[in-house]
Amino acid sequence: MTEALYMNDAYLKEWEANVVKVKDDKYIVLDSTAFYPKGGGQPCDEGIITKNGDTFRVVYVGKFSGDISHEVDKPGLLVGDKVHCKLDWEQRYTYMRYHTASHLLSNILYNRADAKITGNQIGLDKTRMDFSMEDYSPEKLHVFVEEANRIIENDARITIDYMSRDEVMGKPELARLAMGLPDKIKEFRIIRIGDIDEQVDGGTHVKQLNEIGQIEVIKTVNKGKDNRRVYFELKK
Ligand SMILES: [Zn+2]
Repeated sequence: MTEALYMNDAYLKEWEANVVKVKDDKYIVLDSTAFYPKGGGQPCDEGIITKNGDTFRVVYVGKFSGDISHEVDKPGLLVGDKVHCKLDWEQRYTYMRYHTASHLLSNILYNRADAKITGNQIGLDKTRMDFSMEDYSPEKLHVFVEEANRIIENDARITIDYMSRDEVMGKPELARLAMGLPDKIKEFRIIRIGDIDEQVDGGTHVKQLNEIGQIEVIKTVNKGKDNRRVYFELKK
């Protein structure tokens, strides 16, 4: 099992690791990694792995049958190699800002308008969020985004916690998010934004809300009766 370093320290950018598996010369499993594998609406990280001055680009990271697999751009890494790893930090940090922003916005949509979030895709220049909401209007969305921006300006700390299945199921809002996750998961990772929001989540987040900047809606798209898709970007 790979130790997933990004779970408890989203700000780790460089680390040493050992190669424990190699498949088809280019799919690498490490004993520890901060490369985030694509999932939960967050894209995978990219970056480099170096061995004795030789650089391998990490072009894709995914979870496959329990392993975090790093696809590199050329052969040469072997089981037993000691390597140095480095994230493309600018890219990852942007994903972190967008991910935390989408938690905050989804919280406001849910609490103010009973909106259900049905999809979420984080990107480098914008993030897309799908939701269903009765009596939608652009004015309402504007008010919710304004509220999110005020909360960001007031700042709050983002913390990571772990909860047992029983604890999660005892809280209706968390249970809603944990529903559908495999039974074998006995402990859930919880991301909290101050006392404003808590979600079951495996992604990487900023430490302080004010790192996000301000949310600006780019456009909204009608996806059926009560369904909307909103694209937003973050301004520093
Ligand atoms: Zn999330």
